[in-house]
Amino acid sequence: MIHRAAFVGLCLAFVASACSSGGEAPLPALGSVPGPTIESTTSTTSTTTTTLSFVERLPEPRSDVPGIVETSTGVMAAIVAPTADGLTIVTPCGEQTVVANARELGTKLVVLDPGHGGSEPGAVGEGGLREADLNLAVARAAAAVLESDGVSVALTRSTDMRLTLAARAAIAKAAGARAFVSIHHNAAPDGPSDNPGTEVWYQVDDPESRRLAGIIYEDVFTLMSGYDADWVADTDAGVKFRLNSRGTDYYGILRNSAGTPAAIAELAFISNPTEEQLLASSAVQRAEGAAVASAVERYLTTADAGSGFVDAYERVTPAGSGGSAKGCVDPPLD
Ligand SMILES: [Zn+2]
Repeated sequence: MIHRAAFVGLCLAFVASACSSGGEAPLPALGSVPGPTIESTTSTTSTTTTTLSFVERLPEPRSDVPGIVETSTGVMAAIVAPTADGLTIVTPCGEQTVVANARELGTKLVVLDPGHGGSEPGAVGEGGLREADLNLAVARAAAAVLESDGVSVALTRSTDMRLTLAARAAIAKAAGARAFVSIHHNAAPDGPSDNPGTEVWYQVDDPESRRLAGIIYEDVFTLMSGYDADWVADTDAGVKFRLNSRGTDYYGILRNSAGTPAAIAELAFISNPTEEQLLASSAVQRAEGAAVASAVERYLTTADAGSGFVDAYERVTPAGSGGSAKGCVDPPLD
């Protein structure tokens, strides 16, 4: 709650319309969280202090990148390089091809990745809720908040389609994103829990990825704690990393996006019937999206460290969540 309230106060201190706020918690006194200030000396001897607006505090996307496109068939893709005939892009299945009619979108500050899709639905709840659909709804909601707050954002997919992990990460890197969040919902918990079993994975070698993950955890865990459910969790629920046998990040989405601060957010357990009931609500989906968006905004505009860090226990079972090129068939792209 402290962090959420602090962010609301921060928003009010700058441009109220440029921030999303929960609006339910009592508001802290204005200016309780002072933002950075810049001093400018005028030609006279007077000194003025200017407080930066929320949008002015945002970093720029990386500029040393080729950018991304939306193909004429509505597919998001990373640009590899321009060619004489158009643009070489990375296809959803991770191949390279040339397209002549794609719309260039340039760079984006944030890329959100709705996990799974197409022939890979992810986890499916007992009530039939598919993780791929839920992840997309939450990512769309998060993107809407970010956009309305002035944060440029792209989704790796906006329909129920299959994408390799490599193609998703390529979009984040080509976009020059400063934050890349893969949105998921979990299955196979260790057992019942007093609290929501939110988990966020980060890139082991990137302190900014760890900070991003810790802030997402705070905002999502706080949100979910406001709902009533028979929670389940892993015994190491929290913010953590996982290594493969080579000592690098186990999860392909984090490994392939190295250099771009990234996190995998497992917001709640779709496999748990009482959580599935919650997650089926469009209001809850929008609230999850808003929590992810507020966390990303706080990551981009503050030095907050995040919290919830734990040591992950050894996992011997492969994740098996798909995302490889095996059996992947690209849709029409031009
Ligand atoms: Zn998933």
